[in-house]
Amino acid sequence: MNHIKNNKISNHKCRVCNQTDFKIWGKKDDQVLYQCTNCQLVFFFPYPTQEELDIFYNSNYHNVRGYDGNNKAGELRKRMYLLDVKEVESIVPIKGKFLDVGCAEGVFLTFLNSKWEKFGIDVSKEAISRASEKPGIKAYAKDISEVEDNFYDVIHLRGVFEHILFPDEFISIARKKLKTGGYLIISTTPNISGIVPSLFRERYKLVLPNEHVNYFSPVTISHLAKNHGFSIEKITFPYFNTPYSSFLKDLFSIPVNYFQGKASPPFWKNILSAYLIKK
Ligand SMILES: [Zn+2]
Repeated sequence: MNHIKNNKISNHKCRVCNQTDFKIWGKKDDQVLYQCTNCQLVFFFPYPTQEELDIFYNSNYHNVRGYDGNNKAGELRKRMYLLDVKEVESIVPIKGKFLDVGCAEGVFLTFLNSKWEKFGIDVSKEAISRASEKPGIKAYAKDISEVEDNFYDVIHLRGVFEHILFPDEFISIARKKLKTGGYLIISTTPNISGIVPSLFRERYKLVLPNEHVNYFSPVTISHLAKNHGFSIEKITFPYFNTPYSSFLKDLFSIPVNYFQGKASPPFWKNILSAYLIKK
């Protein structure tokens, strides 16, 4: 084993609920996925270190993903952003200061109604310099711990929460940055309790070693909310109407892919978006 670290699962405390009882959930690329028996959090263990993740993110992460929208993947992503913005604006009744965490080049923010005051942060300086060029966006290469306290009406993370090594710590910091009554939106994160992820386990397409380190479910989210003084306003499962869904084809692909040993197809409840309110 070339991934030896001093930490053992028998000494580990869940990074969401602090409990110590885990079962093996899956294995991928010689790495083991465990599930907390209390809060349902699924995670690769040993966790990668921040240094290992930094090496991964520095290797041209944003360009390969087509975040700028100049290719087919980028085009689909834009259509998805439009749907997400529509959902956010239908659930969040207020307008004010909107912080997008992990904003990359700021594409999501450009789709938001101009009534919002738009802020974005990202670890990538290159992405932030591109985001800053877009009108109406204040973008900074900062960590969430470095932004103003008690300042934002909405803190939004899209496809980001599963990359965060310490979700418990993140929620506690995000709470400090929000105004009372403000929204924390954990958008588009894998839902480990969905029918397809439960069936496919490590062949669930969003199980990505060194990239997606933690996997949540509505139960995990409710633990985080309860432990940090948030109420859950709504949990949605974006799938229908998205450019990635084709219900009958996806339904048919579930048994076919499963028995052929392939990766999972997209499906309802594969991903979730949670809307939490700071009490
Ligand atoms: Zn737990």
